Amino acid sequence: MVSEVDVAVIGGGPAGLAAAIAAEQSGAKTALIEREDHLGGILKQCIHDGFGLIRFGEKLSGPEYSHRYIAELKKTGVSVHLQKFVIRINNLGAGFELTLSGSGGIENFSAKTLVLSTGCRERTARQAGIYGTRPAGGITAGAAHITPTSWDSSPAAAAWFSARGTSG
Ligand SMILES: Cc1cc2nc3c(=O)[nH]c(=O)nc-3n(C[C@H](O)[C@H](O)[C@H](O)COP(=O)(O)OP(=O)(O)OC[C@H]3O[C@@H](n4cnc5c(N)ncnc54)[C@H](O)[C@@H]3O)c2cc1C
Repeated sequence: MVSEVDVAVIGGGPAGLAAAIAAEQSGAKTALIEREDHLGGILKQCIHDGFGLIRFGEKLSGPEYSHRYIAELKKTGVSVHLQKFVIRINNLGAGFELTLSGSGGIENFSAKTLVLSTGCRERTARQAGIYGTRPAGGITAGAAHITPTSWDSSPAAAAWFSARGTSG
């Protein structure tokens, strides 16, 4: 079976949430597709505040910020598809054909318009082609974020940070 929509938004982070809400509000039949079991993207693990100052005029943590958008999304008719990994996109010229993989098997979507809001992920030094040895126990900022916020454990008893930006 092929689900047909006007707009398919791939990625349920803040960009995808905002895009799906805007598309639906402008009258397009919209689907939001996310590979994880929750919406929010990276902001799920950003428990520090400072988000929302521009959009909502308030200091919010990452999860609080994304929950505002999720609440707005629920008031729309956007169809949300969680735990669906988009594994293939065919550009048909006059639209797109998407292949999704999930626990129920393979599904297909056809969309007139596609929004790619799949974010970005950190790469380790080895993945970025930086030579040399890596000290044992070295982890990325994202891994340090996600261990206490999503896995409810501490990444280390003591740590040394080499970072910039709010993650550091
Ligand atoms: C470790 C780390 C820390 C950060 N800290 C901050 C911070 O403190 N402040 C700040 O402003 N920004 C921070 N950022 C930047 C942050 O990524 C962006 O602010 C924001 O999350 C980007 O939103 P997005 O919607 O573009 O992408 P994301 O939030 O990354 O969302 C993308 C979504 O797309 C989904 N997806 C990807 N590929 C597929 C696929 N093939 N099929 C289905 N779903 C898919 C992902 O699962 C994810 O949920 C941080 C980023 C990282 C990596």
